Amino acid sequence: MESAATPLEQVHAEIAKACKASRRDPADIALIAVSKTQGPDAIEPLLAQGNRLFGENRVQEAQGKWPALIERYPDTQLHLIGQLQSNKAEEAVALFDCIHSLDRPSLLTALAKAMDKAGRRVPCFVQVNIGEEDQKGGCLPKDLPAFVRQVRDADIPLAGLMCIPPAEIEPAPFFAFLAKLAADNGVSGLSMGMSGDYPAAVMLGATHVRVGTALFGSRE
Ligand SMILES: *Cc1c(COP(=O)(O)O)cnc(C)c1O
Repeated sequence: MESAATPLEQVHAEIAKACKASRRDPADIALIAVSKTQGPDAIEPLLAQGNRLFGENRVQEAQGKWPALIERYPDTQLHLIGQLQSNKAEEAVALFDCIHSLDRPSLLTALAKAMDKAGRRVPCFVQVNIGEEDQKGGCLPKDLPAFVRQVRDADIPLAGLMCIPPAEIEPAPFFAFLAKLAADNGVSGLSMGMSGDYPAAVMLGATHVRVGTALFGSRE
């Protein structure tokens, strides 16, 4: 008897399809399961199916639920995908394996200090405010070259660029723009694509897709 594919299998199949269309290797795309607002009962099945990469958007929430899960699945990688306040930099450096929301000089200073203190370098993506929206975090495209230089000077491992395109409009041009900014600045990683648009992001060069709803169902 054939059993229906799990959401995790379906998302991997979509990634494989997008890779085939764009002649990419699925091994080059990291699927980050975005588990924000989800409790251990929802997260466990994904761990049991072998997924070991998760994304959270709040330091405090992650501190509450992940240590117990990581104890049982020690090879789990945890990425911070949400905005980070400078006063939480030390806690973020202690818990996360990668930070996707480095977007301003004050946070850069706080993270560099926290990494020095912890004796641990945590790779960071520079978040770009790709649609230049007032309400969104992220470095403006015009400020990116100078900011990337500052990140490199601070000896913070630069994982790549990250973006969240404006809602309700076609995201592909924004993904293509982020890919161009990465190439212009000699950066290789691209964190882009969420449940509604990750196949397009993969076709335009994403190395990390951040998928929540398609794996867990809708959040409360
Ligand atoms: C919540 C969130 C996601 C996942 O969104 P879905 O639409 O549920 O896949 C991705 N990236 C960031 C920064 C998020 O906050």
